[in-house]
Amino acid sequence: MKLVVTEIFHSLQGEGPSIGTPSVFVRLGGCIEPLCPWCDTPYAWHDFEEMDLEEIARRVASFGCRDVVITGGEPFLQWDVGLADLHASLRSSGFRIHYETSGKAGIPSIDDAVVVASPKHIDGAWHIRRPDLANAHWFKFVADGEHSLRAIRSFVSENAIDPEKVYVMPMGATRAQQMERMRPVFLFCRDNGLKMSPRLQVLVFDDERGV
Ligand code: SF4
Repeated sequence: MKLVVTEIFHSLQGEGPSIGTPSVFVRLGGCIEPLCPWCDTPYAWHDFEEMDLEEIARRVASFGCRDVVITGGEPFLQWDVGLADLHASLRSSGFRIHYETSGKAGIPSIDDAVVVASPKHIDGAWHIRRPDLANAHWFKFVADGEHSLRAIRSFVSENAIDPEKVYVMPMGATRAQQMERMRPVFLFCRDNGLKMSPRLQVLVFDDERGV
């Protein structure tokens, strides 16, 4: 069985509830329409290779790190065609698994991993199925200004999402964009009782890939 993989690398988790945790990142290839205009990993849309599950597990194990972040692209596009099997294999080997998903391809119910959903607000609409929200353990939103901050506040409220589970991050794939947008996100989180997350990988490495 094979999965479509863009890259596997070792780094620190740069954002969200596990920020700072040494982790192996498995970036699966492919995403789903509508694509996000601000995407910081557009190479994952088309730059990938097929890889055997055994090879993926071997590469993950080679870093000697127990935390694995499976991200994308949109990882759950491949849940039924191999990812569920990779999940079982990694769990049986003792790895802790964290998923990063947009939710655009649905979110399976997974009780032995951490699922962080980052719902996308594109062209005035959210692209995530409401029943799937219950399958996310945490939420990360990106914001680039007043309009997106208002949309996030409405989404959290309308879906009765526990504010304790919500992180808001400055949108931006460069250090300059991060710095420019931190202040409004900071003030928004302070005033709305939400958590703020920086994006350490961008602040430290700017727009470098594989960190
Ligand atoms: S869901 Fe993620 S990978 Fe896909 S276009 Fe949006 S930001 Fe990029």
